[in-house]
Amino acid sequence: MNIIRKEKRLCTCCMEEHEVSVVKYTDTAVFKDVTVEFEAVSNYCDLADEYYESAEMLAENDIAMKNAYRKKMGLLTTDEIISIRAKYGISQSDLCLLLGWGGKTITRYEGHQVQDNAHDSILKKLDADPEWFLNLLEKSRDQICPESFLKYQKTATQLYEVSGDSYLRKAIRAAYAKYIDNNNYNGNMKLNLDKVIDVIRYYANSGTVTALYKVKLMKLLWYADALSFKRFGHAVTGLVYRALPMGAVPVAYESIIDLNGIEYEEVEFEENTGYRFVSSDNHDYPSLNADDISVLETVIARFGKSTKAEIVKAMHDEKAYICTAKNDIIDFNYSLELSVK
Ligand SMILES: [Zn+2]
Repeated sequence: MNIIRKEKRLCTCCMEEHEVSVVKYTDTAVFKDVTVEFEAVSNYCDLADEYYESAEMLAENDIAMKNAYRKKMGLLTTDEIISIRAKYGISQSDLCLLLGWGGKTITRYEGHQVQDNAHDSILKKLDADPEWFLNLLEKSRDQICPESFLKYQKTATQLYEVSGDSYLRKAIRAAYAKYIDNNNYNGNMKLNLDKVIDVIRYYANSGTVTALYKVKLMKLLWYADALSFKRFGHAVTGLVYRALPMGAVPVAYESIIDLNGIEYEEVEFEENTGYRFVSSDNHDYPSLNADDISVLETVIARFGKSTKAEIVKAMHDEKAYICTAKNDIIDFNYSLELSVK
């Protein structure tokens, strides 16, 4: 038993005015045939040596007991349900509408009623899947006031974008898992996707890099990592590169260019589509240090204005490319003989 506080007031137990203690203690109860332990609060009268609870305490203890049951059964607690709803910024009644539940269902789940397993699963799915929330929202469009609709849509879209990125990052890290301890392949650097994004943004924003299409960008990435390895003994980004016909290309490059923060536009040519990386207003590169920037500036000075053909030719003349079999991973040790100083 812990005394939380003492207050002098009329004690409704002995009907005298004295210091009444508010105490916390571990209680046990049986709910739906399950025995649970929970923290309960109570008043304590020292004169009568008796515990007694106010109406609010009874309500609070009931919720604490049910949350202990929820935890034991792997169900969401009231606080977790409230935080899922808060994440989407949606009202209790509108969330019921979206889910096709009775209007007071969520209110009850955030209080004394324990949700069943089916509803619990639906709430967990909602928590993990903003795309699904957006689908449900679209279906309920006519029943929700237009202002609220737009507000919910905006919030869920932002959540969706962020979750999409974390999914993408996970997929890229999975593709790199087998190289994590191979320093010859990653250039003594663990994959750092924030650096990858900042390096690409740095090139796109530099103003002196012309026609930054995909092939050129891939070469500029490799040159930055190779030059950093030559100068400092480690790469900038931790990307692992394959020797493809047009030169070095990072593993999982298709996913990498879709990371949040990297912006490109699609340009239609006669035969195919080009991806041109474009500048943005954000000129902060929090993940890059002075060494990284010095390397990028050297690469920009050497190749910024190069055409795709010129940079591919330069790459083909590098020992790293000549000595690596087609489609194999390029060993960073060749970078010690890089043409760029
Ligand atoms: Zn008393």
